[in-house]
Amino acid sequence: MIHSLTDYVRFNNGTEIPGLGLGVFQIPDEDTAEVVKKGIINGYRLIDTAQIYGNEVGTGIGIKEGLAATGLSREELFITSKVWNNHLTYDETINAFEETLERLALDYLDLYLIHWPGKNAYKEAWKALEDLYAAGKIKAIGVSNFEIHHLEDLLSFAKVVPVVNQVELHPKLTQQALRDFCEEHEIKVQAWSPLMQGKILTEPVVKETAEKHQKTPAQIVLRWDIQQDILLVVKSVHEQRMQSNADIFDFELAPAEMARLSNLNEALRSGPDPDVFDF
Ligand code: NDP
Repeated sequence: MIHSLTDYVRFNNGTEIPGLGLGVFQIPDEDTAEVVKKGIINGYRLIDTAQIYGNEVGTGIGIKEGLAATGLSREELFITSKVWNNHLTYDETINAFEETLERLALDYLDLYLIHWPGKNAYKEAWKALEDLYAAGKIKAIGVSNFEIHHLEDLLSFAKVVPVVNQVELHPKLTQQALRDFCEEHEIKVQAWSPLMQGKILTEPVVKETAEKHQKTPAQIVLRWDIQQDILLVVKSVHEQRMQSNADIFDFELAPAEMARLSNLNEALRSGPDPDVFDF
C-alpha cells in the first residue's frame, strides 16, 4: 500500500508509477496548464491525459511550468497519454504517438495506453506500442477499458505484457473478476473516475463513514482504493480539492468499513461499457 503522494508502485517491467495521480479529462486545453502546474506544486507526480482530451498542449505547458516552479526534473514526473484507437494501422499509431509527444513537448512518455479496445481494434496498435517501447520512447505500455476477454486475446499474441489496465472503478463498480485476472497476469489495475465523477460522494454509506473519520466523502472513497492497492487517477481543477484528495494517508478504514463500501457494488458504470462502445 502507498503511504504518500510520492510513493511508487512497481510494474511488471521494473518501472515504477506513483500510486495516485491527477487526471485532466474534460478540462479545456486553455485551462489545463494552470491545473497541471498546480497539481505538480501540490505534490502530484503523475499526470494522466489522452489524445482525445484535446488538452495535451496545455498539459505540456503545465508540466514545463510545474517543473520550473518546483525545481523538479522531468524524470521525477510520470506522464501518461493514450492513443484513440479507432482501428489504427501500425503506421497511424506511430504517428499518433509522435503527435502526442510533440503536443506535450516531451521526448518520451512514461506510459502510453490503448484507450479503448473497440471491436478488437488493438492488434496493430499494440505492435506499434511494443516497437515504441523497444525503441525507448515509452517507459511502459498498457491498455485501458479492456475486459477479461480482450486481455486474453491480447496476451495470445503480445510479446510485451501490458503493465496496467486503466478501467472505471469505484464502490459501485468494483470490477473484482477483472482485478483477479489482472493480478494473476501481473497487470496492475488503475481506477479512472474513482469518484464516479462526483456521483459516489452523496452515497449515505460514504457520507456516514466520512463523518465517523472526520474526512470528506472523496477521501473515504480514495482511501478504499489505496487500501486495496488499486492505482488511481483522480481529477479536480480546484487546488483545495487536489490537496484534500491527496490527504488520505493519516487514517485507516476498518475491515467492516471496507466491506460496507465494497458492498455498494452494483456493476454500475458512469462511462461507456467497453463491450458495446465502438467508435
Ligand atoms: P473523477 O471520479 O476523478 O471525478 C472528477 C469529478 O469530481 C470532477 O467533477 C471534480 O470536480 C469532482 N471532484 C474531485 N474531487 C472532489 C472532491 N474532493 N469533492 C467533491 N468533488 C470532487 O472523474 P474523472 O472522470 O475525471 O476520472 C479521473 C481521471 O481518470 C480523468 O481525469 C482521466 O485522466 C481518467 N479517465 C480515463 C478514462 C479512460 O477511458 N481511460 C475515462 C475517464 C477518465 P472539480 O474538477 O470541479 O473539482
